[in-house]
Amino acid sequence: MTRQAPAAAARNRPGGTEHIGIIGGGILGIALARHLVRRQRGQVTVLEKERRLAAHQTGHNSGVVHAGLYYPEGSLKARLCVEGREATRDYCRARGLPYREVGKLVVAVTDAERGALAEIERRSRLNGVPGLERIEDPARLREIEPHVAGVAALHSPHTAVVDYAAITEAMAQDVRAGGGSVLMGHEVTDIRLEGGRARVVTPVSEHVVDRLVVCAGLQSDVVARMVGADPSPRILPFRGEYWSLAPERADLVRGMVYPVPDPRFPFLGVHFTRGVYDDVHVGPNAVPALAREGYRWRDVSVRDTLGSLRWPGALPLARQHWRMGVHEIVGSVAKRAYVAQARRFIPELRPADLAARATAGVRAQAWARDGALVDDFAVDRLGPVTVLRNAPSPAATSAMAIARYVAEEFVFGIGEESARLS
Ligand SMILES: Cc1cc2nc3c(=O)[nH]c(=O)nc-3n(C[C@H](O)[C@H](O)[C@H](O)COP(=O)(O)OP(=O)(O)OC[C@H]3O[C@@H](n4cnc5c(N)ncnc54)[C@H](O)[C@@H]3O)c2cc1C
Repeated sequence: MTRQAPAAAARNRPGGTEHIGIIGGGILGIALARHLVRRQRGQVTVLEKERRLAAHQTGHNSGVVHAGLYYPEGSLKARLCVEGREATRDYCRARGLPYREVGKLVVAVTDAERGALAEIERRSRLNGVPGLERIEDPARLREIEPHVAGVAALHSPHTAVVDYAAITEAMAQDVRAGGGSVLMGHEVTDIRLEGGRARVVTPVSEHVVDRLVVCAGLQSDVVARMVGADPSPRILPFRGEYWSLAPERADLVRGMVYPVPDPRFPFLGVHFTRGVYDDVHVGPNAVPALAREGYRWRDVSVRDTLGSLRWPGALPLARQHWRMGVHEIVGSVAKRAYVAQARRFIPELRPADLAARATAGVRAQAWARDGALVDDFAVDRLGPVTVLRNAPSPAATSAMAIARYVAEEFVFGIGEESARLS
């Protein structure tokens, strides 16, 4: 991956006349467009392949505004989640969008989980998670969540829930009001680098831009390959399936209840979330999807599946995680197995309480050639093109902070020497 030579200072200054293209109308593409428009960084055009915004990960997630509990100190996730939580809260307040601090418990069910819980607490304190409380007393645990059973817990009272699709729509209005364009139904099929600029081709339009940022989520590696970027990391789609709790059982949780996650795996485990509209859902699990945008088992893409099976990282990943994979697939097809995961910390849960399957989401998880699942956010640059290569959870929480970081460190090259962190 080559570094872009810093552009002339005159072209970087606010009020610049450059044309900046952004691929992807999820929360990251739109947050970046808003950041650039507000700072008058040039003419901004967002190209989204679907007919609506937030059609993939942004519109199919848990809606949690994470407070920064899990992330290793010094990581981009740790830095940008904390900054992004505050920016999201302030934005929702300013725009009158719902933002509810329902709070979150992470529950250790056995003494064996105390060590992992202590590590989460250590990281949380280093990351500056506000109001964190360690709970050892069962009476205190029941005061917060009366139906939870556990030997110890961490409580994060400021973990919140929002509607990320509504936030994305509101930010897109800001972009348009500031003179930017957000074009739907514009699927980018080719990108040609021409004399330091990029020609971006869709079936209905062509755009020559001075700088291009790829925020294409599940397709980020596919689009990266259009500009000759390294195929690694590849995107491995992991579906997260949810169940809705029957309304008459919604009082099983007041806020959010999470297990202690398996530290070998980049997902948080099946949990309970009281959503911003008061619906309670259980999930998501993590099963390999058979298509990048495969929301059901019957959504199969031969190209995506064969591509994953042929990836050099396939065998090392299978060797390392096959037990977890089998466990998740069994939970996906057998409701009782799914309930068993969630009943560990809410023992009163019965299969009948999971009333209906809710819409699933598919995570864009970056997967390296050696089989490793990339944990931190990752950004690459090739000439005038910047590509977000890994933006999994908590990237929705962090969106406004990622936008600032990508604009300053990559698009306009400030702090260039330390910028390539993927
Ligand atoms: C099940 C699940 C639960 C999650 N829970 C949370 C949570 O509670 N809190 C949190 O902070 N994060 C959560 N996340 C993560 C979060 O949703 C994502 O990190 C975030 O939405 C990523 O935003 P994005 O804009 O990068 O991707 P996306 O929202 O996927 O947007 C990418 C866009 O690019 C478009 N695109 C792709 N290819 C092209 C092309 N060739 N031309 C034009 N457009 C293209 C797509 O159509 C899509 O709209 C969750 C994710 C999942 C799947």
